[in-house]
Amino acid sequence: MEGAVQSFLSAAGGAKVLAAGAVFALLFIGERILSAAPPPRSRQRLLRNLGLWAIVLAASPLIVAPITAFGANHLLWERPDAWRAGLVILAADIVLLDLWTYWMHRAWHRVPVMWRFHKVHHFDEFLDTTSAFRFHLGEVVISAALRLIPIMALAMPLAHVLAFETVFICAVIFHHSNLRLPAGFERALSKLMVTPSIHWVHHHAVMKDTHSNYAAIFSLWDRLFASRSTTPRTREMKIGLESVEDKPLLRLILTPFMRSAS
Ligand SMILES: [Zn+2]
Repeated sequence: MEGAVQSFLSAAGGAKVLAAGAVFALLFIGERILSAAPPPRSRQRLLRNLGLWAIVLAASPLIVAPITAFGANHLLWERPDAWRAGLVILAADIVLLDLWTYWMHRAWHRVPVMWRFHKVHHFDEFLDTTSAFRFHLGEVVISAALRLIPIMALAMPLAHVLAFETVFICAVIFHHSNLRLPAGFERALSKLMVTPSIHWVHHHAVMKDTHSNYAAIFSLWDRLFASRSTTPRTREMKIGLESVEDKPLLRLILTPFMRSAS
């Protein structure tokens, strides 16, 4: 069983990387041709984002994938056959994991020790596709571990978890991107999905907006749980954290462990 899980994990992991890579490449090029906001000239933030990404990428096969495999091998009960397959069950699992991720994101903002990790993502003073990979390794590992709670409690099939992760990564790349979409299309899409116009407000350097718009894939959670900001996204909107500057890469890595981390 464990061997089967391992080989399934590596095959599905490959498909996930391919899908995310294709979406990343498409939007990375797209946001350079059709920019919603003027990109900064400095390459410093690009190097910081890529540096944090490289750390997560190197550690994922050693830490994050084994956490997912552990969950798949330790489900708390077994679903009846009728609940294991089918598009409706797959969609329900994706919606439930997105709901879990919404509340986790609120916790990353509101629990002080978790905010120490998550603010590394929010220090970014501009947003584009590379921001989607700018997370502290600690946040990635803790998120994967906490996600085992709904996975094991609801006995989610590994294929559904990996399908969610694929949709999730693509959604995160999309809503951080600096792609300029036709206003009417983005407004219509934002009724269902989190678009850049929604998520950029989450990165607005005004604390009230930073603690709003937590949803990742489906935009209804912020409306349902009253965390949707009414601030409209503008081209000149200041991105980052209120009264705080971005830090060099080493400082970002150490931020969660520093006493006076601002
Ligand atoms: Zn956040």
